[in-house]
Amino acid sequence: MTVIHVALDVPVNRLFDYLAPNADSADIGRCVRVPFGNRQLSGIILSVSNLPSVPERKLKTAGLIDQAIPPLPQSLLELFEFCSHYYHHPIGQVVMNGLPALLRKPGYTTSRIPKQIQEWILTDAGRIITLSDIPARSKTKRQLFSLLLENGIITADIYKAMSPHSRKLLHEFKDLGWVEQRTALPGKFAFSTVPTLAPTTEQAHAIAEILARIGTFTPWLLHGITGSGKTEVYLQVAASLLAQQKQILVLVPEINLTPQLEATFRKRFPNTPLVSLHSGLNSSERLQGWLQAQCGEANIILGTRLAIFTPMPRPGLIIVDEEQDHSFKQQDGLRYSARDLAVYRARQANIPIVLGSATPSLESYHQARIGRYRLLQLHARAISQAVLPAIHCIDMRVTPAQERLSEPILDALRQSLDQKQQSLVFINRRGYSPALLCKSCRWIATCKRCSSRLVVHLRNRQLRCHYCGDQQPITPACPQCGDPDIMPFGHGTQRIESALIKQFPNARILRVDRDSIRHKTAWQTMLDTIHQGKVDILVGTQLLAKGHDFPNLALVCVLNADSSLYSTDFRAEEHLFSQLMQVAGRAGRAHIPGTVLIQTEFPQHPLYLALIRQDYAAYAQTQLKERKSASFPPFVYLAVLRAEAPVLAEALEFLHQTAVIATIAKEYAHIQLFDPVPATMTRLKGLERAQLLIQAVSRKCLQIFLSDWHQRITALPARSKLRWHLDVDPLTL
Ligand code: ADP
Ligand code: ZN
Ligand code: ZN
Repeated sequence: MTVIHVALDVPVNRLFDYLAPNADSADIGRCVRVPFGNRQLSGIILSVSNLPSVPERKLKTAGLIDQAIPPLPQSLLELFEFCSHYYHHPIGQVVMNGLPALLRKPGYTTSRIPKQIQEWILTDAGRIITLSDIPARSKTKRQLFSLLLENGIITADIYKAMSPHSRKLLHEFKDLGWVEQRTALPGKFAFSTVPTLAPTTEQAHAIAEILARIGTFTPWLLHGITGSGKTEVYLQVAASLLAQQKQILVLVPEINLTPQLEATFRKRFPNTPLVSLHSGLNSSERLQGWLQAQCGEANIILGTRLAIFTPMPRPGLIIVDEEQDHSFKQQDGLRYSARDLAVYRARQANIPIVLGSATPSLESYHQARIGRYRLLQLHARAISQAVLPAIHCIDMRVTPAQERLSEPILDALRQSLDQKQQSLVFINRRGYSPALLCKSCRWIATCKRCSSRLVVHLRNRQLRCHYCGDQQPITPACPQCGDPDIMPFGHGTQRIESALIKQFPNARILRVDRDSIRHKTAWQTMLDTIHQGKVDILVGTQLLAKGHDFPNLALVCVLNADSSLYSTDFRAEEHLFSQLMQVAGRAGRAHIPGTVLIQTEFPQHPLYLALIRQDYAAYAQTQLKERKSASFPPFVYLAVLRAEAPVLAEALEFLHQTAVIATIAKEYAHIQLFDPVPATMTRLKGLERAQLLIQAVSRKCLQIFLSDWHQRITALPARSKLRWHLDVDPLTL
């Protein structure tokens, strides 16, 4: 009797057994269709044995085992198992959520694998052919071949755009042995060859160090100031591994950053198959990219956090750019940290991992300081003329301002306009204003479903909740006292945009926030507009702060940074420092010296003092000291148990029950359980939320405790009456 143990997308932490007479160990990692209740589900075979967990007569027989797709590699299955174990999430859901949606879709069959797209590469034999070998009358043929000679490759986009005969001609070239056919993703960028930049001394040192240890698990923290050329380090290390036919995984925090990086990699490695995996792809594009990685056809895999689950038969290097970014942590379902899993994968594959940042997370920085990671530093900007921007604080207690724009900032913007340079006004709040207030009775518009204020979106005359998305028209009068004199209170991007238009009627002003890039192509169009110098003043949120290179940008103005200075969130300051360093780093990246002006009521705050000196190391050290004395990560390890219920008392009561069963186990001396408390944002989408914090002296202690405790919780009768989840290594409390 042969039994397969299958991971299915169901919320129970176990595998499901099925009879599969013809299965053997070669089927481990393969996709299979199985009956489940009255449905058919797709799952992944995790093991094969002759030992069912239930009596044989109760077993159902599995359906078709998909032989068309190669089985998932053992290493990926191990990663899934680790994830399930570490984050206490059902194994089947971990596995199935890590795979492209099409693979897990019921009714999916292999015949639905998308048609592969072809591209054509010049062979060595083709390289010695000259145009004169092709008869002059075959005009299209010559044209096509000259393109091949120039670029070494013809992508699907190009030959489709050429002539209806080009496909036939390419087949002719193939028969002559001049070109080879290869399957590829749609090539989105034209090929060209760019010579490698001569590395700066610091870059050269970093590259040499990393390359000296490529065959081993070595975690590198590449700490390089903004504009120091971290990308060039990635590229040159990657080049070396690609030459050895290894695969490279590059993780970036935001989908918006992938096109830019994709272009950079394609440009540098025009002949290397590259796939880009992110949430902006449709499901068949994603499946196809994934399959190319899985089959080993794609050598460069770029992606956002989900790409960490991409199978790679020949891994050689993992890069995590902007490793401190919170987007690497998934905030629902399987709450994993792609950065942490990347380190796991590198260890598993015995390869180097490069974590890059201008402001590393305190976790990673600490690891480097205690010698677990190796630290590489780039102190200078790569382009020799590009100096770091000068940062100044504007003391808002004594400086006059109109519409939140202080005089020094207005002056600087004016000067920048006169000099035909770009400026960026950074305000991390979209909408017109963050509140609507009645002046007579102090009523404030709040969301019915969340403990949040409604944001005024004046453009479409709406009030919107930025937490649940609820929206309603702006009320003409106060619903409490009837006074029509209700006022938008505070400033968001739209309001600043309006104020700037009034101040600088002749300037070309562009607002960039989540509202303005809602359309799929809007983002790229905006980037192009900025790069073509068609914008004078940018008004934007953190969308603009990350990773972009705007060579003509000379001035950055920060309007409302103070709000996160005295937050209850212990990571708020770290986040603010990183964000401001990033946004400041946008200024003066090329040949124009940059200036950064920050409006604040606390100009003497240590954070701003460190920022002005642009001294990450000093700042990180004081932060680490504070974290140590207050017992916060990276000196302790945390987990949070969160519960949501229609009534707060229910959520709290459930958490109390879990605390009781936890304290029964006296052996957990190194674990501290705090009292259940309402969450900072208590009400969200109509549910009241509470949480219980668990703190441990080591990861291991925490894991041992959580495994046991989690099992006990799943046995509590109350557990099925509300929603709850465990968040290991939470980013926010
Ligand atoms: P970072 O990611 O560290 O902020 P980038 O990789 O974006 O920095 O590099 C900043 C700028 O410096 C880019 O325009 C890049 O082309 C340029 N650059 C990087 N390395 C070199 C080099 N060795 N020589 C000349 N220019 C370089
Ligand atoms: Zn009122
Ligand atoms: Zn809401």
